[in-house]
Amino acid sequence: MTEQLKLYINGEWIDSSNPQLFDVINPANQEVIAKAPKATKEEVEQAIKIAKATFESGVWSSKNPQERAAILLQIADKMEEHAAEIAQLETQNNGKVLREAEGDVADSISAFRYYAGLIQNQAGVIYEAMEGLQTMIVKEPMGVAGLIVPWNYPLLMAVWKVAPALAAGNSIILKPAEITPITAVKLFQLIDETDLPKGVAQLILGGGTVVGQTIAESDDVDVVSFTGSTGVGRSIMHAATGNLKKVSLELGGKSPNIIFDDADFETAVDYALFGIFYGSGQVCSSGSRVLVQKGIYDKFVEEYVKRAQQIKVGPGHDESSKAGAIVSENHMNSILEYIRIGQEEGATLACGGNRIERDGMEKGFFIEPTVFTNVTSDMRIVKEEIFGPVVVIQKFKDEEEAIRLANDSDYGLAGAVFSTDSNKALRVIQKVRSGITWVNAYHLTNIQAPWGGYKHSGIGRSIGTYGLDEYQETKQINMNLNPQPLHWFE
Ligand code: NAD
Repeated sequence: MTEQLKLYINGEWIDSSNPQLFDVINPANQEVIAKAPKATKEEVEQAIKIAKATFESGVWSSKNPQERAAILLQIADKMEEHAAEIAQLETQNNGKVLREAEGDVADSISAFRYYAGLIQNQAGVIYEAMEGLQTMIVKEPMGVAGLIVPWNYPLLMAVWKVAPALAAGNSIILKPAEITPITAVKLFQLIDETDLPKGVAQLILGGGTVVGQTIAESDDVDVVSFTGSTGVGRSIMHAATGNLKKVSLELGGKSPNIIFDDADFETAVDYALFGIFYGSGQVCSSGSRVLVQKGIYDKFVEEYVKRAQQIKVGPGHDESSKAGAIVSENHMNSILEYIRIGQEEGATLACGGNRIERDGMEKGFFIEPTVFTNVTSDMRIVKEEIFGPVVVIQKFKDEEEAIRLANDSDYGLAGAVFSTDSNKALRVIQKVRSGITWVNAYHLTNIQAPWGGYKHSGIGRSIGTYGLDEYQETKQINMNLNPQPLHWFE
């Protein structure tokens, strides 16, 4: 029988009162892997109420950093014990190849361990601003944290929020994307086995407009951390104005990958493929606009297209697959529509462009790695986030034009430069208006470095010390060491 998922509120797994269930499917073959509830507004409000009461009780918020760290380490250890199973589940629900899912699980375990360490190392600041007045700057948890995540990294995006929010001492409500709840459920099953007090962590499954919106609007939620599309990010910001809750937004991108004539050719081709076709392009930081200098443009395009056609797309569980499925039929159709638009706009379809329905992929949602050339800056396929295995290649003449084209976007999430001239590479990357950048690499990152974007790509930064700040209030305490009247009005 297909498993029916539950909500996790106050340390109990409960059925939603809404009888309507949502089929959770494997996008590689459309097999129904679970039935998920769509929580009601009342259930979300109940979860928020429990989180608030738990926060105020101090069972977690007043624990000292060592005690909190010990429980984060328990979660990490549990995840490590179940790492292979979690990766399998991620591949089954999201469609990504197993190798990628295994990387996500390892990164998630590291995130819990990192924040367990960081919270124990966070020292306040104490100084004597004037004689006899001691100033202390201390960090405190914010209260109730609403955590809303997308489907492209169902586990890792959840953990990037859950780990720092818990480390800081908050109570949390996690809302996964409705189509990819499986690894979040697994994470909470493991959390349930740890010593985390009941009521600190709630998991609410359901739709964005009911669950997400209720979290964003609630006056009892103190911070909402959202990763997803720019459109929904905007609506969350509006919804959050009622109690002026803190908002952090990790949104979309259309990131430039600049390749100069003097780049190491093999490295540049390799990373430019990795930059867009990793995760089948369903990665916020994907290098979806490749800008190539005119001296190597023709040679680059020829080699790039040849190699893109050789990428083996297939079911994530098949070890020979190098790129997996698109997460859903809706999303696949949206990508195919962009490919149609690109052709209609007059771009040259250099390779790909089709759904793949052969070799065991008949029922799945697979798209060929797709490359467009002869594009212009006003085309929708150049301006809009497609979020799939579709790349546009543009030609530039010099440094100035490369920077202008790179920044000709409403987004500012990521970007890269390839050149063997390190002065030029640094000069150019400093001018790229993006939060996550590389020189002679793409996608490689780590838990210590802040993650987030400029412009329409968001507000705030996840992970690293910055990610902990997102879930903390900062307070100054001024202590008069020599209490005597001030006599100001005398
Ligand atoms: P989405 O915006 O459709 O959904 C994200 C989450 O928000 C889901 O849980 C969804 O149910 C919820 N939601 C939907 N409507 C809502 C509403 N009105 N109020 C509150 N919550 C609501 O995004 P998606 O399609 O799941 O993910 C793809 C997008 O995420 C892409 O744009 C991608 O670039 C972005 N993304 C960004 C980052 C980053 O770090 N910057 C990382 C991963 C994904």
